[in-house]
This record gives sequence, C-alpha cells and structure tokens, in this order.
Amino acid sequence: MTPLRFDNTFVRELPGDPELGPRVRQVQSALYSSIHPSPVAAPRLIAHSPEVAVLLGMDEAFVRSPEFASVFGGNQLLDGMQPYAANYGGHQFGNWAGQLGDGRAITLGETVNAAGQRWELQLKGAGSTPYSRTADGRAVLRSSIREFLCSEAMFHLGVPTTRALSLVATGEDVVRDMFYDGRPQAEPGAVVCRVAPSFIRFGNFELPASRGDVALLEKLVDFTIHRDFPELEGSGAALREEWFGQVCERTALMIAHWMRVGFVHGVMNTDNMSILGLTIDYGPYGWTDNYDPDWTPNTTDRQNRRYRFGQQPQVAFWNLSRLAGALMPVFDGVEPLQAGLQRYAQALARLDREFGAAKLGLRELDDDDLLLRQQLHGLLRDGEVDMTIFFRALADIDLGQPRLTVFNDAFYDIEKRDSMASDFLDWLQRYAARVSQDGRAPGERRAAMNAANPRFVMRNYLAQQAIDRAEQGDEQGVIDLLDVMRHPYDEQPGREALAARRPDWARDRAGCSMLSCSS
Ligand code: AMP
Ligand code: MG
Repeated sequence: MTPLRFDNTFVRELPGDPELGPRVRQVQSALYSSIHPSPVAAPRLIAHSPEVAVLLGMDEAFVRSPEFASVFGGNQLLDGMQPYAANYGGHQFGNWAGQLGDGRAITLGETVNAAGQRWELQLKGAGSTPYSRTADGRAVLRSSIREFLCSEAMFHLGVPTTRALSLVATGEDVVRDMFYDGRPQAEPGAVVCRVAPSFIRFGNFELPASRGDVALLEKLVDFTIHRDFPELEGSGAALREEWFGQVCERTALMIAHWMRVGFVHGVMNTDNMSILGLTIDYGPYGWTDNYDPDWTPNTTDRQNRRYRFGQQPQVAFWNLSRLAGALMPVFDGVEPLQAGLQRYAQALARLDREFGAAKLGLRELDDDDLLLRQQLHGLLRDGEVDMTIFFRALADIDLGQPRLTVFNDAFYDIEKRDSMASDFLDWLQRYAARVSQDGRAPGERRAAMNAANPRFVMRNYLAQQAIDRAEQGDEQGVIDLLDVMRHPYDEQPGREALAARRPDWARDRAGCSMLSCSS
C-alpha cells in the first residue's frame, strides 16, 4: 500500500498536557493528553469496511496483513502517528458533568488521502487514558460489533456519521456488569477504528468555557473553524456567527435523518454531539421497530426517557443551547448565537417537510399534508406497526383500491390490525387521493419513495444475532450484516430474512430492546 501521510494539526497547533502517561487526573489549560494505546494479547482482524479502506488509500493486501491488525488493535504505530486522548466535558442527562474526555478512545493521527481529504483515525477500546476515571479504557466485542456495523449502515443510509474502518479482536477478556446488577462477567474484548474528518464534540468547547479559560476556548474555536469548516468565508465575528449557524444546520440535518430512518441514539449527552453534525458514539442506540416516539433503547434512561425517539429534535436544540452558552465569551452578545439556534429550528422544519414528502412519495408537504402525516403516525403508534416495513410497502399500494394486505408483515399485533383495519383503510384512501392529485408518474413516485424508505436497517435483533454468533466463534454474521447494509435501499432478493420485523423472542431481550451504557 501507499504509506499513509499524516498531518497532525490538532496536536501541532493546540496546547497539550505536559504530563505523559495514563494517571487519572484533571487536565487544565490543555485540549488533549498524549497517550499510547495499551498493547493487547493477540490482535486479529474480524471485519473491515472496504469503502473506508479505499477512502484512506489502503489496499486489501495491507488490510489482510498482520501489521494492520497490530496497528488497529493498538500494538504498533505507523510512521507519522501521534496518539492522544482529547480533553472535553459535557452535560450528561441534563446535568453538567465536568471533565470527561476520551476515556477509551485514542486518536492515532490525521491522515490526508490522495484527494486531499483529512481523516482522523481513532481507536475505541485501546486502553486507559488520563480520562478513563474509574474505568478500564476497554470495549467489549458486543458493543464494538454494534458500533462497527451501525456506523457503516448509517453511512450507506445517507445519514451523516463517523465511519468505521476495522473491528479487531484483542484476544483478551474484559469484565463488565452489563446491567449494573452486581453480576459482572468476563467478555471478549475488541477495538474499533473510527474514522471522521474531526471528532471534536460540543463538550470540547464546554470544558474550557466552564473553567473560564477563554483563551483556550478561543484557540479551539479558531482551530475548528479553520480545519473543519474550510469552506466558510469571512473573518472575525461574522465568521464565527456563520460557523455557529452551520453547526446548527448540520445538527438539524443529522436529526432529520435520524427521524427519517427510525434511529434512536440513546445517549445524546453533549459530549456525544459532533461539531460536524455527525452521528457519533454508538452505544445503547436502537432502531424503532414498531413506530413509537416514546421508545428508548437505553435502560439507564428508562425512568425519564429523556432521549426517546420522538424527543431527539428537542434534545438537539437543548444541546445546541449548551454549546451556545459555552461560546458566549467569544461572541459579541447573545444575538448571533440566538440567530444560529433559529437556523436549527428553521432547517429542521424544512428538512422534516422535505424528508416527510419523500417518504410519502409527494412532491412536497403542505399544511394539510402535515396533518395527514400526523394521523398516520398516530395510527402506526397505536396499531404497533413496523415503521420501516410500512413505509417501504406504502410505495406498492394500489392507488385505485388500497388494501391492508400489502402491510401484513408490518403488524406486530394481529388483533390491533383487525380492530384498526377500517381506520387504516380510511387513511389509505385519503392518502391515495392526495397522491393522485400530486399527478406524479407512478414509477417516479415509487423510485423516490424507495430512495427515502430503506428496505434494510440495522435492527437491534439483527445486531444481537450477529453478536451471539460471534461470541460463539462464528463471525460470518457480522460480515453478512455489513454486506447487506451496504445497499439498504435495494431489494436484495434472497436476503428477505434480514428485512423481517422483530421476532417475538427479541421483544424484551437484552441487547435487542434493552441496552445499557456499560460496554
Ligand atoms: P459515553 O457514555 O460512552 O459517551 O461515555 C462517557 C464518558 O465515559 C466518556 O468520557 C468516555 O470516554 C468514558 N468511558 C465510557 N466507557 C469507558 C471505559 N470502558 N473506560 C474508560 N472510559 C470510559
Ligand atoms: Mg461518549
């Protein structure tokens, strides 16, 4: 392979912690701590993303080489890598949590590919850092499989996200108390290499702001604008205002996509919000099978359901408001920040209509259509209907005589289907009339719908099946699932099983509907 070229601007241009080594500490006046990954017993590549390898200019021979597993398992550095853990804070579940930092993520460096694109390579689960607090800096295989698969699935679905290059088994066990119930178990460990133009989070700005370190905050703001938003023009206050507005709009785009595909992040703390509006930190995330705005996969959040599916747009706004608060000292008054937050609300409203229209196969949604959609959402919720299957099938109804049979696979409860059949038919008739009025060619409408309504999503139970097999030593399930998720909008005959609604056994099973942060 062509050797990777590194240009490590973050460590070169920003102040770092003078102390070396993983001693747990509060790190003042610095945005990162240099730290090496801790070696593992027997690194072995389980799976990789061919698209990300190409993006980085790596050939297959390198990916298959022992050197690759060694580097991306954390045992060896390539020339030019300068590993570090970033220092950031965050609001967790609504409360300021102080310094958090990369407790189990270590950035290896920023590589620049042949096209001049900058990609930060970051290992997750590579051992302790000054920010590991009481934990071990490691990740278990199950959560690593989930992060690896979902990052790539989201990318192929068209959702802004960090990417995943590789999944490497460490050959070591990690002890986890999965549900915090005093029954810790040894589980196989793994390391994922995540890839993104930048892993800077809202929390990176919040921490210096919380400490009153305006000089450090200002350095980070200027650095971020310059490195991660090179397309922005202007200077001074106007540039900063435009930057914050862009952050708000990108966040709106990400959220609108989550709502479109039924993704629930699960832990939308401000340390898990990317400044680039990328989905980041795949932990106790989930996909809504039956359409349920109140659902959250995260058991830690079961009481308040702060991060439930339907609440994500509001939470993102709240998080952006925390970012705005942190940025106050480097802005001229609150107006420019308020203007940015306004841009979030406007962009989200616009995108919600745009994506909503695409899902329904309409050119656009007018106010009446919003009502029609709201009624549908109510039916889907009350009727316990699978969101993904329903919208995909909606493209196939007979507009002249809509029938419910097209949606047979989408219902979780036959009794509800039967008792609500007339409500559904009534809605379908009104929908069919609206579609006819839109006057779009059927083929065009169907193609537009199929491009907005995936056939395959990374359902929780599918990931769990792949995990169960991998824990028994059969890793083919991970590879197959990645492969199907590379083309989520295609029919893919023969792979119907991977588009099936959640089976009954998965309804309340750990890993399928219940996930904890402990991973
Ligand atoms: P999360 O909820 O996964 O976003 O993590 C919140 C904070 O806890 C971050 O600072 C993480 O780096 C840290 N953290 C989570 N798991 C571990 C772990 N196993 N070892 C060290 N730090 C961790
Ligand atoms: Mg995190």
